[in-house]
Amino acid sequence: MVRDFDITQQRLLVTELPGPKSVALQERRVRSVSRGAGTLANIYMERGAGAILVDVDGNQLIDLGCGIGVTTIGHAHPDVAAAAAAQAGKLTHTLFTVTPYENYVRVAEKLAEITPGDFEKHSILVNSGAEAVENAVKIARKFTGRRAIVSLDHAFHGRTNLTMAMTYRPWPERAGMGPFPGEVYSVPTSYPFRDGLSGAEAAEKTIDYITTHIGASEVAAFFVEPIQGDGGIVIPAPGYFARIAEFCRDNGIVFVADEIQAGIARTGTWYSIEHHDGVIPDLITTAKGIAGGFPLAAVTGRAEIMDAVQPGGIGGTFGGNPVSTAAALEVFDIIEREGLLAEAQRVEASLWARIGDWAEKFDVVGEVRGKGAMFGVELVKPGTREPNPEALTAILKYATTHGVIVLDAGSWDSVLRIMPSVVISDELIGDAATVLEEALALL
Ligand SMILES: *Cc1c(COP(=O)(O)O)cnc(C)c1O
Repeated sequence: MVRDFDITQQRLLVTELPGPKSVALQERRVRSVSRGAGTLANIYMERGAGAILVDVDGNQLIDLGCGIGVTTIGHAHPDVAAAAAAQAGKLTHTLFTVTPYENYVRVAEKLAEITPGDFEKHSILVNSGAEAVENAVKIARKFTGRRAIVSLDHAFHGRTNLTMAMTYRPWPERAGMGPFPGEVYSVPTSYPFRDGLSGAEAAEKTIDYITTHIGASEVAAFFVEPIQGDGGIVIPAPGYFARIAEFCRDNGIVFVADEIQAGIARTGTWYSIEHHDGVIPDLITTAKGIAGGFPLAAVTGRAEIMDAVQPGGIGGTFGGNPVSTAAALEVFDIIEREGLLAEAQRVEASLWARIGDWAEKFDVVGEVRGKGAMFGVELVKPGTREPNPEALTAILKYATTHGVIVLDAGSWDSVLRIMPSVVISDELIGDAATVLEEALALL
């Protein structure tokens, strides 16, 4: 364990889940909150520390989700709280594009340092992942003078109108909410479990699709998640991104790595593209794990691309807020001083040791895959590769009512997504895995 926590790192149930206070809150919620904000488990949380969440009834739950990969450094780190509080007492807003402040510049300096690539890099800071992706689209279009945007099958890039169009599956993210912007194309990716292709073979398929459906010279930007998150922890085969990056280079296409979910220490490296043989993106989007839960996102990349936009062409009122940037600076520092890249690698080893044999042990598990603290368990109908969403629903229900928060993923809703904080102990991983195994055994 890397630090002391003020909540014991242990699952502890004192009521049924959800407990009576959660049930009462849920009754109020349905009368005041849009149904569109669907929830995975209606257990209302009050506090957190490390890998444990405490609900309003006093139950302690193991968090294997981190609010979709956000609280990578653990819940409520006291130093992040102190940095944010100190900043909140000094200055909460000027709007960087009216009168700037140092925190914003320091975050941009740090992003230039930790993103792959040995060249001059500039950044823009915004509020959310989708906003970062939208800005990357604008920047790439301005730089190239082209319009077409390519994203991969199974991609997730956000819920705004443009990023919805770049997101793969229709349900629930898109259905009924069009029309969508034109010039956005989804192309075949590499999904080793499902296509059985090598990286080179899958890349040729992708490139052929672009050549025959869009035309390489029309494409402004090619967006990839080096490890797909919502798409089901899909890790393209070795060599895939190297070939795609080469294709982009040869054709003047801006290669964008959307690292919003897999970046910032989640996979044992600062950025997950580092697992793909030295591939260097032109632009990188960062969000989720960057500020310990405070809203902050960024586009970082080659200075000449980032500076193609006229002053005033990108930005926004709250982007790079003083408090969020103060939190982010503390997060960067914590990752370094607590050795959290190595902790993510420890979590990976611990997960492999504990759940790596599930495909042999359980008929419904087709594959276990992952990097660092980002794992997917592909659920199938026994003896086939057919997706098994019913199994996922059953596992999520069992896990959440037994004090383990896990996530769903995958275009067929059939991938169990495991994304704990990198400070989760091996004991907690073991306990959570036991609960998940009980659920698997009941199928
Ligand atoms: C979450 C996510 C987004 C969208 O981020 P928001 O902050 O929810 O807008 C975009 N891309 C990826 C890869 C994500 O995981």
